[in-house]
Amino acid sequence: MAKQKYETVIGLETHIQLGTASKAFCGDDARFGGEPNTHISTVSLGHPGTLPVLNRKQIDYALRLSVALGAEVNLTNYFDRKNYFYTDLPKGYQITQDRCPISVGGFVPILLSDGTVKKVRLHHIHMEEDAGKSVHDVFEMHSGVDLNRAGVPLVEVVSEPDLRSAEEVDLFMNALRRLVRWLEISDGNMEQGSMRCDCNVSIRPQGSEELFARCEVKNMNSMRFARRAIEFETQRQIDIVESGGRVRQQTLQFDKNTGSTSPLRDKEDAHDYRYFPDPDLPPVVISAEELARVKAEMPALPWELYERFTTKFGLSAYDATILTEEKTIAFLFLDLTEKHQDYKACANLIINQVRPHLAENETNAVPDFPVQRWAELLDLVKENKVSNSVAKQKLFPAIWEKSDTPVAKLAEKMNLLQDSDADFLADLAEEILAKYPDKVAAYRKGKKGLLGFFMGELMKASKGKANPQEGNAVLREKLGG
Ligand code: ADP
Ligand code: MG
Repeated sequence: MAKQKYETVIGLETHIQLGTASKAFCGDDARFGGEPNTHISTVSLGHPGTLPVLNRKQIDYALRLSVALGAEVNLTNYFDRKNYFYTDLPKGYQITQDRCPISVGGFVPILLSDGTVKKVRLHHIHMEEDAGKSVHDVFEMHSGVDLNRAGVPLVEVVSEPDLRSAEEVDLFMNALRRLVRWLEISDGNMEQGSMRCDCNVSIRPQGSEELFARCEVKNMNSMRFARRAIEFETQRQIDIVESGGRVRQQTLQFDKNTGSTSPLRDKEDAHDYRYFPDPDLPPVVISAEELARVKAEMPALPWELYERFTTKFGLSAYDATILTEEKTIAFLFLDLTEKHQDYKACANLIINQVRPHLAENETNAVPDFPVQRWAELLDLVKENKVSNSVAKQKLFPAIWEKSDTPVAKLAEKMNLLQDSDADFLADLAEEILAKYPDKVAAYRKGKKGLLGFFMGELMKASKGKANPQEGNAVLREKLGG
């Protein structure tokens, strides 16, 4: 009841680990995993006297993301120090961007279940380094610290409070995850912590435009938990307001065992961190040429392709969604449509055959595969030279092995070309009907469903090569309608 009176307002701060080989400010290995404290050097350990050296790759990655999201890039931007004390932060400060981040504005388009697109506005995107990890469940009497992650480059995407439900948060996170994979700047893997978000949640009376006090649930690293945390937090705040109280701005943590949130600390303010410019790092300067290059190299983006596939290509929302999940798949499909113009047939081949095949063989890389062959396969089906089932079961797998042979040749060699030769079909039909006099009589008495049985026999006898339409026609004729 009370729920209908309120609207949930959510803003997300999403941290995305950039997939660089080395860390943000030193040469240490930035990959996930490894024995604890093996991806470290004096810089990661924050030894006095060591100096950070900027890994340029992270700028390129953050720039790609900014451009893809339509953000305005600050061609000169700066790193700052955020000072706080914690065991997983040996330097005593985190390098981040406070005053002037790499970009501001932009938006993430999300496709709502009613088919409309909502543009979730971004406040800004900034770069920062990750902290290490405290480990509380390995040693009995004390905690451990693993600094492998300390200094790994991150971008933080800060949204405006434009999201209205856990579902929208889910769509937003999925859209971002798909995008960073598409741009090849991160694996977007939430389980391994490559993507995590802080959820800022407030409620307000339906119809209000005001922003009320919010609570920030820290470090959600699974969509399932984020959803539960938002639902719990919404209800908790409604209960407070309904019982005459006021929501207090707080930083919360989510307990996955109880499904509830609890206070972590009172909301800190910027001045608590004594932000100041990092004197060890020069300004990040991006040249106009560099920005122009990133724009020129930007691939067609998933939501742009979705739009094209559903409108220009006339595909269903379902097909377009699957085709735009992964860049490799989307571009194989596009490539195929250049060579065969039945878009639906192309989509079916990519979705039902290519995609499962790639998944089964655990590869997304088909760098040299001649897409031309798939087009030839579709041509053969269209021209009725091979049946759909033969194309799928026999030819498609064979093409992977023998991609250098034109498909028509291959089909001929494998003796798969379809027989639509009328005499041949008529002979086969005669033979089959002669074999099943009882069934023929039953058919003629009205059991028309038996046609399927005869068709099956005909296909079997022709080893799958009979043209289904013509076979059907021949059988009906012989059966007398
Ligand atoms: P801070 O920098 O102190 O964490 P910001 O005002 O920059 O706070 O906002 C951080 C995040 O909180 C942003 O994603 C923003 O959209 C979100 N946010 C701000 N106010 C609200 C609110 N009233 N309800 C929900 N989210 C909010
Ligand atoms: Mg914050």
